[in-house]
Amino acid sequence: MQTSEPKVALPVLSDNFGRRVSYLRVSLTDRCNLRCVYCMPEAGVPYEAAEDLLTLDEIMRVVTILSSHGLTKVRLTGGEPLVRGRDVIELVKRISRIESITDLGLTTNAVLLAPIAAELYRQDYEESISAWIRFAGKGLPRCQNGQV
Ligand code: SF4
Repeated sequence: MQTSEPKVALPVLSDNFGRRVSYLRVSLTDRCNLRCVYCMPEAGVPYEAAEDLLTLDEIMRVVTILSSHGLTKVRLTGGEPLVRGRDVIELVKRISRIESITDLGLTTNAVLLAPIAAELYRQDYEESISAWIRFAGKGLPRCQNGQV
């Protein structure tokens, strides 16, 4: 008779004080299309080489593994995450399919949002997922480090 393997509960992530870690911020890039004085010096900052950024598959690997250890909330940030173009739409689509991720946010300065907003929003419903998209702030879109 064949016996099935017992199900092993994966350990939930926690910090040194025993607090559960369920929230992951993923910086998609260190680049930004704005130069807010409190964030980006006029002379610019040295950027990471493009090949050093995590690929979509690498990001998905991290999110997927962590989702098995209690991750429920993911926020995509930057720099300005939308400078990664269609990568963002693909990521939203893929992360939205992970059942245990119930809160998916995007922090953006919104400069590049208009052309892709409808497509991002649609991912919510067409993929029949439990996640939702939240753009930071209700009035002015908030960027990672303050308001623009
Ligand atoms: S504060 Fe936000 S929008 Fe402004 S330069 Fe920094 S990342 Fe870009």
